[in-house]
Formats: sequence, structure tokens, C-alpha cells
Amino acid sequence: LGVNRTTVLNAYSELKAEGLIGSRVGAGTIVLSYLDEELSGCGSSREPQWNQIFSQYSNRFDSCLVQDLLMLASRNDVISFATGIASPESGPIEALEGIENEVVNNRNFRSLLHTPTEGFISLRKVVCGLMQKRGLYCRPDEIMILSGSQQGIDLAARILIDPGDIVVVEEPTYFPAIQVFRTAGARVIGVPIDDKGMNVDVLEQLLHRYRPKLIYTIPTFQNPSGAEMELERRKRLVRLASKHNVMILEDDAYGDLCYEGNLLPMLKSLDNEGYVIYLSTFSKNIYSGLRLGWMVAHKKIIREFASAKQLIDLHSSSLSQYIVERFIENGSLEAHLNKVCSEYRTRRDIMYKALAKYAPKDLIWNRPKGGYYFWCRLPDGISSLKLLAKAADYKVSFVPGSPFFSSGQGDNFIRLNFTYAPLKDIEEGIKRLCAAMKELEAE
Ligand code: PMP
Repeated sequence: LGVNRTTVLNAYSELKAEGLIGSRVGAGTIVLSYLDEELSGCGSSREPQWNQIFSQYSNRFDSCLVQDLLMLASRNDVISFATGIASPESGPIEALEGIENEVVNNRNFRSLLHTPTEGFISLRKVVCGLMQKRGLYCRPDEIMILSGSQQGIDLAARILIDPGDIVVVEEPTYFPAIQVFRTAGARVIGVPIDDKGMNVDVLEQLLHRYRPKLIYTIPTFQNPSGAEMELERRKRLVRLASKHNVMILEDDAYGDLCYEGNLLPMLKSLDNEGYVIYLSTFSKNIYSGLRLGWMVAHKKIIREFASAKQLIDLHSSSLSQYIVERFIENGSLEAHLNKVCSEYRTRRDIMYKALAKYAPKDLIWNRPKGGYYFWCRLPDGISSLKLLAKAADYKVSFVPGSPFFSSGQGDNFIRLNFTYAPLKDIEEGIKRLCAAMKELEAE
């Protein structure tokens, strides 16, 4: 990786300052997560035979190199463009406080009991209304509440994928989805994406050649590229799925966060036959700790997914469901969305201007119309992993490109989030990042 000495020393002093480094006679210095294991007896001769303990499933997990690097880069006083979470500065605290008080003051015990696996029927009706406003007409029994949209991706892998099956994804795409499909034993094949979304010509060839089981797509404000699939491609994609009898998993995590223009129809609203499974989440438009999302799909799919979900967590948090139902019903979601869309638009513009002001000559970046991210192509010869290490010296972080590519390429790209860092730090963070790029260019 070529991480230099200063970076390592900085990381060391930060870990030490946070009490995450310890030592034991004869064992030298240990980072705390390993220290715990050491002290709890791992490494002794009585330790379990790990190779017989873990399942083949667990052996399929990818290594955590990027997560480890990001952990180092997310310590104190680092300006983080790495996360994918909503702005802590604009959380709807008052509205939520009101609802939580309602639960306690009215001794509303219903919200703390078990719900059906598919979710409170009252919430499913409210979500139905939300979908209708966005042009998707569905019934409450075509909706299931999920513990985040990540759960929907996992359920899709469990219910639709057998080891050896092929899943088509956009290249690049949301990397935890690649990990989920691979862990289910799928072979993941990428289709290139441009600013008009997935290249459906290439997709069509792949459909003929490989007969995939599933197409995973993020058509609106894609993570990481920010791309928005154009209408013609949306229509063609849905037609192709029907022609080749393949399901589409439409991940619409960012559809509510539109900063200009009108939203294009969801794939699900173009599908009259049941080939599209639609996922969305309350993580990006309210807050991620709710762990609440939802899916819209054919009743047959809902039934299968609900059977699997029941074995995983019985149902999603009743309290979160109650909070979200009231939040939508009392108009707080709409008010909150108006507020955050305007704030995020400002943040996007600040980051865009800062990139124009400080970027090295050959850096290329997009101007996302919605969502959370800028996607940048680095000047020739700069590796995003090397840049991440260099950026740690400058106390700024981002996500390097390669995990987003199923092919493992993409080290010349980086993803920058503009919703999380304090607004006042965005320009400074970009200035530092660009200085790190220029320093690497000069080496
Ligand atoms: N899909 C996409 C495209 C995402 O960006 C994320 C969160 N980063 C998720 C799914 C998962 O979100 P959650 O489980 O919090 O709904």
C-alpha cells in the first residue's frame, strides 16, 4: 500500500489517545480489538479449532481492508466524506421527541409489542400513500416493512439465489450488495453505467449469454456514481426482464432526495407483471438508526420474503414503526424533506464549487441532481488507496473506488459524501483532499 511512516505514527498516536492501544509483557503493543482476544485466552493451546468451527458461509466474507483503513481515517478531527449517513446537524429532533413523548405519556404499549412480520398494517397503508404520491399504485398487501433496505437485499439473495447463479449489477455499485450476493454463492457480473444509468445494450447481451437470476440496480441518484437512469432505459430494462424471465431488484434509497428537476418513474411503476422488487428506506430521509425500510413486490414474493424474515428477526422494531407512521401521518416527513433537500442542495453546491477551486488539473467529477455523493475520477497514475493513506495525513477521508466494482477495478475513482461533514468543513476538507492529490502527483 505504501503507507508512509508519518501516517502510521499519526494513526498510532490517535489509537493511543483513545485508549485503544495496550501492551502485555512479552506480547508487545496490541490494538484493543486484538487485545480483548489475547486476554480472553485466544492464542492459548486450548483455543477452538477455528477451521472446524466456522461455516462455509462465513468463509465467503470478503476481507475488511477498506473498512480498516476507513476506521483509521474516521478518528477525531478528520473531515469525513466517507460515510453514507444523513446530516447529524439537521436531524428532525423536535418532531421525533414529540412522538416519543406520545408513546411514554399515553402509555402507548401497542407500539412496544410484537407486530406481524410484514409490519403494522397501519404503517403499510401510510407507506402505500407515500408510494402513490410518487406515482406507484400498490396495495398494502404488496408492501412489507424491513429492518432497513439492506435486509431487502439480503432477503433477495436468500430467496432468489442458489450458489453458482449469476447476478448482474451496475459497475460501479453499492458494494455491500456485491458482498451479499457473493456470500450467497452468486457470481456477480457488472454492467457499465454512464450518466444515463445502466448500459442496457450490454445488459441485453449478458442476458442472452449468461441467463442471470437477478438484476440489481439503483436507477435514481445511484450510489456511488450519482447517475440517474433515463426514462427510455428504464422502460427497456423492465421489458428485458419480462422477456428473459429475470427479476429486477430496484434499490431506491435516495429517491426522496432530489435537488433539481422532476423524478423519473420508478421501475416498479413501469412493471405490470411483477418482475420488479422495489426497496426503499427511512435511513436516508429520516435517520439510519431507525433501521426501517420497506419493499413493494408481487404478493407471492412478499410471502416468500416474509417467511425468511420471520426466521431472521420476527419483525422490524415496533417502536421504530410507530415513530415513522406518526412522522409521516402528522406531516413531519414532508416538512423534513423540504428542509433537508434545500440543505443538501447547498452542501452539494459548496462541494462542487470547492472542487472547481482546488482540484488538480485532471480530476473529473459529476454534479449529482440528488442523493448523497460525488463520484470522481482521479488524475492518471493516482491510486485511491494510496490517496486514502495520504489523505489521513491531511485529516480528511473518503471511500476509495475499487470496492464498488465487482471486477475489482476502479482504484482510480473515489466517492465523496456531502451530507455528513459539518457544513462549515466542506470547503476545507476538499482543499485538504486536493492538496493530498497534488502531493501524490508530485511524488
Ligand atoms: N442501498 C443503498 C444504495 C445504500 O446506499 C444503502 C445505505 N448506504 C442501503 C441500501 C442500506 O441502507 P439501510 O439498510 O440503512 O436502509
